[in-house]
Amino acid sequence: AYYAVGLHIDPARTTLVVTDMRGRVIARSRRRTPVVHGPARVINALVRAVRLLVERSGVPAERVLGIGVATPGPIDSGGGFVVEPPNLPGWHSVPLREALESGTGLPVIIDNDATAATIGERWSGGVHRAGDMAFIYFGTGIGGGLVLGDRLYRGASWNAGEIGHVTVEPGGRPCPCGNGGCLETYLAPHAIVADAARRRGEEPPGLPRGSAAAIEYYARVCRAAESGDPEALATVRAAAAHLGSAAIGLLNVVDVPTVVLGGWGISRVGGIYRNAVAEAVSARSIARAVRGLRVETSLIGDDVAAIGAASLVLHTTYSPRFAPA
Ligand code: BGC
Ligand code: ZN
Repeated sequence: AYYAVGLHIDPARTTLVVTDMRGRVIARSRRRTPVVHGPARVINALVRAVRLLVERSGVPAERVLGIGVATPGPIDSGGGFVVEPPNLPGWHSVPLREALESGTGLPVIIDNDATAATIGERWSGGVHRAGDMAFIYFGTGIGGGLVLGDRLYRGASWNAGEIGHVTVEPGGRPCPCGNGGCLETYLAPHAIVADAARRRGEEPPGLPRGSAAAIEYYARVCRAAESGDPEALATVRAAAAHLGSAAIGLLNVVDVPTVVLGGWGISRVGGIYRNAVAEAVSARSIARAVRGLRVETSLIGDDVAAIGAASLVLHTTYSPRFAPA
């Protein structure tokens, strides 16, 4: 039997899995991503974490075919670079593939985190969703993946599906991607935290995105919204309305029967987001007289992108770079 490592780098947390050839998880670990210390520290920590997890999994090291890595985009997948992701400050064209290959001695393939999550949700983890779908990933940032014509749609440069950078307010909030009014500047956890503070008449706390304090604050806002606190609820609903607009724009273009919301960022308020997208669909879907559209939350949960990343290795096994010894 052969195995793969899947590694999901979210600025807030890194998830590692060892999977078998069918995408079943043999071992997993989750840790904070030391983003503030820069890419070299993050990569060193990842190399160590991979070694430890493979040891702990009991899988013979020579049976591990490679590492699939899910990272925030934009990426240069051919070259194995991470290219200035809005949520990884200080990462300018980081040669992630090469660094991980030389650190671990294993072949590495990198992909966008939301695309990897789409793969995980569609083909792996023991859950098999049929049919075309749009996947919306909620992490430190907001991303997306598309299954069209029963195939993953990657786009010309492996950067398709960037729904987080759809403009929902022309001339709106500045986004680190260089544009203004991107969905992510209203819907990402750090944006919701700042909005929740403003709505209470407080100064936005200015917590670094993906930091433990930001996530803790975000979780508090979500808990409050869930238990009906009017201000928290209004904050999350305002963000959800922007999500509805961006999502229906995408869905009217691609005509898929299913949209799935996933990632750690929706765990508590997934229902609010799902309703907002469902409302946008029933009010604004151009095809609503012809067919329904299912709006669902992820079946796999937090490991979805790591599992999808691992399966990249399994699907790439036939290329010479991945030839098993
Ligand atoms: C990036 C996407 C990524 C998403 C979630 C966005 O800011 O542009 O590539 O999928 O964050 O990490
Ligand atoms: Zn943007």
